[in-house]
Amino acid sequence: MSYVKKLKCLLCGIEYKPKEIKYTCPQCGDEGILEIIYDYAEIKKIFTKEKLKMKSEYSMWRYLPLLPVDNPAKIGPSKVGWTPLYEVIRIREDLGMSNIWIKDDGRNPTASLKDRPSAIAIVKARELGEKMVTCASTGNAASSLAGAAASVGLKSYIFVPQTAPSAKIAQLLVFGSTVFAVRGTYDEAFDLSIEATREFGWYNRNTAFNPYMVEGKKTVALEIIEQMDFKVPDYLFVPVGDGCIISGVAKAYKDIFSLGFIDRLPKLVAVQAEGCKPIVEAVNGDGEVKFVEPNTIADSIAVGIPRNRVMAVRDIKKSMGFGIAVSDKEILEAIKYLGTKQGIFAEPAGSTAFAGMVKALKEGKISKGDKIVVLVTGNGLKDVESAKKAGGEALIIDPNLEAVKETMN
Ligand SMILES: *Cc1c(COP(=O)(O)O)cnc(C)c1O
Ligand SMILES: [Zn+2]
Repeated sequence: MSYVKKLKCLLCGIEYKPKEIKYTCPQCGDEGILEIIYDYAEIKKIFTKEKLKMKSEYSMWRYLPLLPVDNPAKIGPSKVGWTPLYEVIRIREDLGMSNIWIKDDGRNPTASLKDRPSAIAIVKARELGEKMVTCASTGNAASSLAGAAASVGLKSYIFVPQTAPSAKIAQLLVFGSTVFAVRGTYDEAFDLSIEATREFGWYNRNTAFNPYMVEGKKTVALEIIEQMDFKVPDYLFVPVGDGCIISGVAKAYKDIFSLGFIDRLPKLVAVQAEGCKPIVEAVNGDGEVKFVEPNTIADSIAVGIPRNRVMAVRDIKKSMGFGIAVSDKEILEAIKYLGTKQGIFAEPAGSTAFAGMVKALKEGKISKGDKIVVLVTGNGLKDVESAKKAGGEALIIDPNLEAVKETMN
């Protein structure tokens, strides 16, 4: 059995036993998102820094005692996590910043951070004996769920906005999902998938509905903590859509703090696109999230109704962090910069946090000496159209050396 002690409603505070409940708080309805609370006293007995160092399992499952897994035999075969945390020497030199790291989570089985929560979803579905899984997604949650489901023989039903990048839809089809491309926004696809769950009983992975997804997402930061040898950065830059990744990052640091391995927490910086920045406005303002009509090239964070808004705003404010918005132009420039300076290939949402870091530096919100970690959350092959906009044009030439010489002039 896992070390999960209880599930606590974010809104009313009622606590439930893990077996009592599947999704949200019955008292508060779909808004009543549940937080997972562990028995840290018990975990401490078996989980120590020394034991962690000895582990040969280099994947997200390295942190099994801190995950909501009752039956490890139900873990799928795909290798998720333990992605690189780069010291980005060329970027350090270029920006004159000596303490910046980039975590490239595009290096996961289906090429985004979403493989982490989806791996947990598949374990929970199998523990319950479910055969069919579903989710709504801007694309990456879907492709990761579809891949993980395929790897263990579960059937997946996926709802995406019809406008999702074609590479993400292609992934779904290759993984054998039944794909509903919804004529509408992600926000509409989300509501539809929950209706479908109620109608057909499919196991639902939706973020901020399924309580375990934050737990999967937190493994990205558990790795960062270990990769930085338990030194805590001043700021952690995170791209934000629904706000689940940033709450996952907060949860990782809280878990490790509760175990006594670190003595402070990082400030969390939420980065969104100018054309869709409800969390940024709420964090920098009175905390109230106003819904918007998304308009940005960064499809993975084009979320007008952030489902994990209450938890995310709370976590960012508590951390003493802030929000910052960047234009689509700055997002595309960041794709090119990460590529040319460091060989990291990011999709638009994947480069957004870096764009936000550059802007925060320009605006004096952070300084060059600060210790900073930036998350890259998805790979550039996910959205080749945007990559082309960022990268520019090839030189088209006749097949002879003269033609090459001419272009060199
Ligand atoms: C989902 C996603 C995000 C945003 O995560 P939230 O939990 O929705 O805030 C950022 N980048 C990429 C590549 C994603 O797929
Ligand atoms: Zn409640």
